[in-house]
Amino acid sequence: MDTDLLIVGGGPAGCAAAVMAASVGMRSVLIESGDALCGALRRIPVVRNVLTATNGPDLAAAIGADLARCDLCRVELGHRATLIDAFDDRVEVTIEPVKTMKSVETVEPVETEEDAGSARTAGSRLTAPYVVIATGVGPLGPEGAGWLGGVAGRALPQLWEADPAVIDDRTVLVLGADRPLGTVARAHPELRARLVVAHPPEDAYKTEEIRRDPRVELVAVRRLELRPGTASAPITAEVETVEGERRALTADLALLNLGSVPAPPAGAVVADRSGYCPPGSQHPGVFTAGDLRSVRFQRIATAMGSGGEAALGAYYASLGLPTETGGPPTEVGGPPGRTGGG
Ligand SMILES: Cc1cc2nc3c(=O)[nH]c(=O)nc-3n(C[C@H](O)[C@H](O)[C@H](O)COP(=O)(O)OP(=O)(O)OC[C@H]3O[C@@H](n4cnc5c(N)ncnc54)[C@H](O)[C@@H]3O)c2cc1C
Repeated sequence: MDTDLLIVGGGPAGCAAAVMAASVGMRSVLIESGDALCGALRRIPVVRNVLTATNGPDLAAAIGADLARCDLCRVELGHRATLIDAFDDRVEVTIEPVKTMKSVETVEPVETEEDAGSARTAGSRLTAPYVVIATGVGPLGPEGAGWLGGVAGRALPQLWEADPAVIDDRTVLVLGADRPLGTVARAHPELRARLVVAHPPEDAYKTEEIRRDPRVELVAVRRLELRPGTASAPITAEVETVEGERRALTADLALLNLGSVPAPPAGAVVADRSGYCPPGSQHPGVFTAGDLRSVRFQRIATAMGSGGEAALGAYYASLGLPTETGGPPTEVGGPPGRTGGG
């Protein structure tokens, strides 16, 4: 065995798993495909639902410092887990270096004498009795949104990646009502943009935070068809609203805000019919944590809690004690896509 516990994904869930594992004396190797830990947190300017944290970058820095102090965890940045194999007595994780890695910003890999294997060889395999999979979710592309037409071949940026200066003083057609809209509105009260948010009815429950924002116009639609256009010309779209009315929407630019889809590595990670990977359905050596578990529980605090639980699950299993890996309900939501994101 290379270590006591392998952890795939260096977001809040994976990092919490590493710290919890160390607290009970388990060595771990954490594999993160990005060039820094907690990349998602670095893009959240304002946080209001996490104890002691008010913004993502500071929280990411604090977590990075915690991991740097964690002698029992070796962090391998810039490596993607491509395959998980689970056997009766062990799990194996195949990892590949990520070629586009730019720099190592926060945590240098910590080598300990006990670390038998190095993760730095192309296509190498790491072996341990248990693995925590905490790879989070990725953005849902327009091809996964059945209500959206005319998007093929159009390069539409993601709302959560957009520069606020590009939005200011403009009319923006936001495609989908996923939660990054609330993040943008909360983080930039000074923005004078008009945000026309076209969304399928299934997204209505996500609009609570922004529905009273005077900059936002919500349009619940059955169908939206973008008209052909160029990047520089105003955007126009034909919509059929949920009431059956036909309307034309015009905007200076269009941004995607469709939701997210789970991003597990290939192999032994079991997904339910919505594509998410509930802890209770996994091989005894595989523990899932964070956003990957469920369409509904996608929050920083729940990711951390579930990461800690996953590591404790592995610890109790190593002692031969029964573990409960029930996790949140798994039958919520439809297929990945229209209900993506929490
Ligand atoms: C715009 C935006 C705003 C948000 N605002 C809030 C908020 O205000 N409050 C809140 O509670 N939550 C918020 N969230 C949600 C929050 O970011 C997530 O719930 C949280 O980050 C989930 O943690 P995680 O560890 O499960 O996944 P992630 O943070 O996504 O971490 C997963 C990690 O795994 C890595 N990875 C993926 N695949 C592989 C692989 N094959 N091999 C190796 N590494 C891999 C990724 O690079 C990533 O670093 C927001 C999300 C977004 C996008």
